[in-house]
Amino acid sequence: MPLVDAVFRLFAERGSGLYFGEAVTETEHALQTAHLAEAADAAPALVAAALLHDVGHLLHSLGEDVADRGIDGRHEDVGAAWLARHFGPAVADPVRLHVAAKRYLCATEPAYLAGLSPASRRSLELQGGPFTDAEQAAFRAEPHREAALALRRWDDAAKVPGLAVPGVEHYRPHLEAALKGNA
Ligand code: FE
Repeated sequence: MPLVDAVFRLFAERGSGLYFGEAVTETEHALQTAHLAEAADAAPALVAAALLHDVGHLLHSLGEDVADRGIDGRHEDVGAAWLARHFGPAVADPVRLHVAAKRYLCATEPAYLAGLSPASRRSLELQGGPFTDAEQAAFRAEPHREAALALRRWDDAAKVPGLAVPGVEHYRPHLEAALKGNA
């Protein structure tokens, strides 16, 4: 099966679980994140990264209550490792860094931390809390840090119950453009 079809099947088969502690499903959350990226005129690879940023959740299916059970599934590493097999670093890196971006913003923007949803604040602890100075410096050295920060803010905003946005098929051109060999 072509990769893009396999991705869409993942959403169809595993995306209907609730996104950790929020009132939207995994698929709704992914579609809203991608929609925000596209509305911000992000490059196709970053729109693809937005759609796929939580693919690690779908891949390892630990269930919808991972944060409640006190497990940090490291979904960003699972997702990025899988994405790196099929897409270039402009897709895989922002995904790998989207939790780091949250920890970075929590350390550097008090208003960001205050604005996190309760579930996101709970998972912050499991993810290691706000970055130390040394961790912030390491993050600032990442080539795709700006993309990761932008992705993070779309991610945080993509939790609106019942919002009407385009479906997965809308993103086929973005995904195909970002595939290894096509980018
Ligand atoms: Fe997310």
